[in-house]
Amino acid sequence: MTATLNGHRGTNGKSATRERAPQVATREAVAPICLLPGPVALAPRVTAAFHEPIMYHRADEFLPLFERVRGRLSAMVGGKPAAMLVGSGTLANDAVAATLRADPQADNGLSLVTGEFGGRLLKQANRWGLRPRVLNWDWGHAWHLDEVEATLKTMPPGGWIWGTHHETSTGVLNDLQGLVALAKKYGQRVIVDCVSSMATVPVDLSGVYLGTGASGKAIGSYAGIAFVFANPSDLAHLDAGNIPTYFDISAALTTTGPRFTVPSPLIRALDAALDVFASPESLAARLRHIAELGKYMRNRLIDAGFEPMAPAAIANPSIVTFAPPQGMSTAAFVAMCRAWGYLVAGQSGYLAERNYVQLAVMGCVTQSDIDPLLDRLATIH
Ligand SMILES: *Cc1c(COP(=O)(O)O)cnc(C)c1O
Repeated sequence: MTATLNGHRGTNGKSATRERAPQVATREAVAPICLLPGPVALAPRVTAAFHEPIMYHRADEFLPLFERVRGRLSAMVGGKPAAMLVGSGTLANDAVAATLRADPQADNGLSLVTGEFGGRLLKQANRWGLRPRVLNWDWGHAWHLDEVEATLKTMPPGGWIWGTHHETSTGVLNDLQGLVALAKKYGQRVIVDCVSSMATVPVDLSGVYLGTGASGKAIGSYAGIAFVFANPSDLAHLDAGNIPTYFDISAALTTTGPRFTVPSPLIRALDAALDVFASPESLAARLRHIAELGKYMRNRLIDAGFEPMAPAAIANPSIVTFAPPQGMSTAAFVAMCRAWGYLVAGQSGYLAERNYVQLAVMGCVTQSDIDPLLDRLATIH
């Protein structure tokens, strides 16, 4: 991406550069390139869709749009039906916790924690009065399925296991299909947070009880629409009267159109973002782009002397978590990148506390967007 100077022209239309020396366009002068794991860099088509006129959420034209988006989301995860709520990913996970609270097996759960977001799921469960067993691994580790199996052997069947597919804080991608296979063997239900794995790697929720996602990460739209994936028939045993109205996933799944007010710009923008994933071929091409760009970024960071927290074998390609150079705080690293024209993660408490920063390629970015940053980082370590 090249920054351009727009004129500095006087009222006579002539260049004003005789009066004032032309300034060399710098990255600082243009919008920074976003390498955050949400918000992400948006495609112009997505922002254009967002700015279209607002539609009434009960209008005849809106319902097919809403249903098409649900269908597209569902197709992305192997066909599991999608409910959409207005909110961020945390709301989707609260809806899961509310659903579990109403389950006859609410007390028969297992929580898998490998970082910040797994920890948040556990806290959300606790706030809903759920007290699952907990398996906790150090940052940078994936679920150890042998330990999970040992715990499953002690649990009565019919319970649940809840964890993050991609643990965004560490960049570790957990073995979802391995967990699903184990759960099946022991008669347990898997619940998985796919907020940051959807649209970065193939996600198949067909063997999962409940899954969650959100619009504002690698799907490439604005934050604000939360997804819960489930089969309505898997929820038939629940008494909806015990579930808060907004979190009634069964009702959301079986209603055509939204149950409550939805801002149409969020749905239009999401629909435009989903164009990229609309066919199996385009989805595969997008995942290939992320895999290649992420691998390139990771290798260049390694060449520059940085050490990714997630080992290559268990890393999600879309993000690298690493420590700033010796003696540099996360705040200083973030500010340095900002001065170079990049938004990078490090400001969240959980990263700053542990002195980690992150570069993510979840959004609309290419190699030429990230090369200048990688070139500079190669000179400072
Ligand atoms: C971002 C994220 C969430 C949700 O965070 P919000 O701030 O509510 O969008 C949940 N789980 C994971 C794994 C995430 O990366």
